[in-house]
Amino acid sequence: MKLTIMGSGTSTGVPVIGCKCKVCQSADPRDHRYRVSAMLQTDGGAHILIDCSPDFREQMLQNHFDKLDAILITHEHYDHVGGLDDVRPFSFANEMNVYTQHNFAVNLKSRIPYCFVDKDKRYPGVPLLNLCDVEPHKPFDVADVSVMPFTVMHGKMPILGFRINDLAFITDMKTIADEDLQYVLGAKTLVVNVLRMQREHHSHQLLPEALAFVEKVKPEKAVFIHMTHEVGLHANVNDGLPANCEFAYDGMTIEC
Ligand SMILES: [Zn+2]
Ligand SMILES: [Zn+2]
Repeated sequence: MKLTIMGSGTSTGVPVIGCKCKVCQSADPRDHRYRVSAMLQTDGGAHILIDCSPDFREQMLQNHFDKLDAILITHEHYDHVGGLDDVRPFSFANEMNVYTQHNFAVNLKSRIPYCFVDKDKRYPGVPLLNLCDVEPHKPFDVADVSVMPFTVMHGKMPILGFRINDLAFITDMKTIADEDLQYVLGAKTLVVNVLRMQREHHSHQLLPEALAFVEKVKPEKAVFIHMTHEVGLHANVNDGLPANCEFAYDGMTIEC
């Protein structure tokens, strides 16, 4: 499989609007971070999107993706779902299956209610989204892969992580319970969030927490996502990291 990190930034994106820091003013494209999203291309050729950020349209255009088969959603926060209206070109012919846990599906319906009215009353052209409820620890099939959803804690909020073959994809995690850690262990590729280096946050891991997590999981490769501008210039950000760890940048591809 091949994973493309289409967005490696936190909810503000980088640059932050109006910020004059050196990261936000950097000319290095790797210091430009869209909101979190990734495209998984399976061995069978399916394109599975993980989270649909408000930057979805630009992310698809920049990465030259013209195919989309399904969407997995980790949680309902805007930086992970704000692009769902832009799925339109992929749902003209068939409904797009969107897999997430029930409470997030309910909230998505109230956020874009015009997509979910009865067919005869629906405005022509709106994206046709088929919300598919999934539950932690109950695997489901998407195209040619089996997806195992598990729970991670985004502060006090339980959200989803996904295990697909040797890939574990986690964003917006602060902690994980032992009963969920078992679904991450053994992953060769771990994608996980690092908000920033040191300054405490109630619902996101900092670098030391992520490194401790990597130490537990022992993947062959760990890739960090969901960064603020506070992580510093991408050119220096990997200095001093363990050999199996790397900060992502937008457009990065990973064989997994
Ligand atoms: Zn900045
Ligand atoms: Zn987020």
